Amino acid sequence: AAKGAGRNRYSYFTPALQVEALTRMRLTNDLRNAVKGGQLELYFQPIVHLKTGRIHKAEALIRWRHPTRGLVSPMDFIPLAESSGLIFDIGMWVFSESARWVQRWRSEHHPDFQISVNQSPLEFQRDDGSYLEWQRQMQDLTLSGQALVVEITEGMLLDANTTVSNKLLQLRDAGIQVALDDFGTGYSSLSYLKKFDIDYLKIDRSFTRNLAPDSSDMALSDAIIVMAHKLGLRVIAEGVETEQQRALLAEAGCDYGQGYLFSRPIPAQEFDAMLRAQQV
Ligand code: C2E
Ligand code: MG
Ligand code: MG
Ligand code: MG
Repeated sequence: AAKGAGRNRYSYFTPALQVEALTRMRLTNDLRNAVKGGQLELYFQPIVHLKTGRIHKAEALIRWRHPTRGLVSPMDFIPLAESSGLIFDIGMWVFSESARWVQRWRSEHHPDFQISVNQSPLEFQRDDGSYLEWQRQMQDLTLSGQALVVEITEGMLLDANTTVSNKLLQLRDAGIQVALDDFGTGYSSLSYLKKFDIDYLKIDRSFTRNLAPDSSDMALSDAIIVMAHKLGLRVIAEGVETEQQRALLAEAGCDYGQGYLFSRPIPAQEFDAMLRAQQV
């Protein structure tokens, strides 16, 4: 080993950082095995039509059942999936599972049912032909693109290049709808709303949380709903936890609600049972 420069170079890495890096490496390795070894699970959370109280859609949310760590939150492992490139396989798995389930629900009792899947910036901003693979799978299932919604965030449209425009066009061609997730957080530019063809705005739960009559979050939610409707978009409120929030959103004309008041995200089989119960 070299002295001098070499030793100086190593001195950047404190033991704490080494441990952190090691943990990250181990977890990334575990994630690689998880994808192959069936440790990923897909949960669904209902999206409820506020006027009728019926479940019209669901959001697919991924879970990782780690053999020793238990259930790992996507907040913790999606970043690892991105930095390791595993996100592409994971995204394809989420799509395939979602397509299979929604095909079943649409053919059984809910012909208009939709599943929304999340796309991370890395997935959405890379032109890797994954939507062609989606279309191939949809053809195999004889599944209409209308069955699916892709959730992206505002930031992904802000630095829009031709790849992003192309991907949006590919979705449009396939009949797949687009939702803007976590709407209202972070960005003040709204010009992309007229530039791109968006179908749903999902009001971020930071607005829903403090909803009260005459509150500033009520004013903001009202304004978002009015604006969205004038632009021909539907609105989904995230994080609906209380009856008061539901009532205020319904009164404001919000189309759909999602949150613990209706249900937490639940395993696919349980969601299947919930939908069946609604049938009766
Ligand atoms: P998101 O897309 O904004 O998903 C909504 C999150 O809010 C979910 O967290 C959901 O469990 C949570 N939530 C729903 N209702 C309520 C409520 O009433 N109160 C509160 N406090 N929270 C509520 P989750 O499942 O932990 O997912 C976190 C994030 O991870 C998602 O945020 C999404 O950005 C990402 N994610 C999840 N699944 C996937 C996936 O398959 N692919 C990608 N790329 N990202 C995913
Ligand atoms: Mg989402
Ligand atoms: Mg969201
Ligand atoms: Mg959110």
